[in-house]
Amino acid sequence: MDNGSRGRKDTRLLKEKRNDAYKCKDKLPDFAHCSTCGAMFIGGRWTWNTPTAAKSKVVCPACQRCADDYPAGYIEMKGDFFAKHRAEIISLSKNIETQEKEPRPMERIMAIREEGDHTLLTTTGVHLARRIGDALAQSFKGSYNFHYADGEQKIRVYWER
Ligand SMILES: [Zn+2]
Repeated sequence: MDNGSRGRKDTRLLKEKRNDAYKCKDKLPDFAHCSTCGAMFIGGRWTWNTPTAAKSKVVCPACQRCADDYPAGYIEMKGDFFAKHRAEIISLSKNIETQEKEPRPMERIMAIREEGDHTLLTTTGVHLARRIGDALAQSFKGSYNFHYADGEQKIRVYWER
């Protein structure tokens, strides 16, 4: 059950190196194509354009994070209200992902799992974690907090009701 905290401790050592790895943007050629999810790198950003002109095959930062189980965003959700409305709240979170992922292919939900007294939802990007936190607070009120770490390359969001 404490896999999460153990995992964080282990990955902290690799933090510097890995954050660089996820920011490989500048080194990629145009039309680099992620062989895992199909996202394509054009003009300095990732898109969902169809890879008809795909040149080099790469693994995009979001797929790399999923493969490494190394999230950028953590959202802790808990409380009696949450327990009662869990399905609805998770479904709202997934809707936010669907909206965000369209213009920003690197923003995705990685996993949703039970951890101690809360449900932990992890994301590949800090932006999506913030958006989900905002949406939960807006739709369901409750108490909402977040803090950034690693020079804003990571975020931990807490929502409770
Ligand atoms: Zn990918």
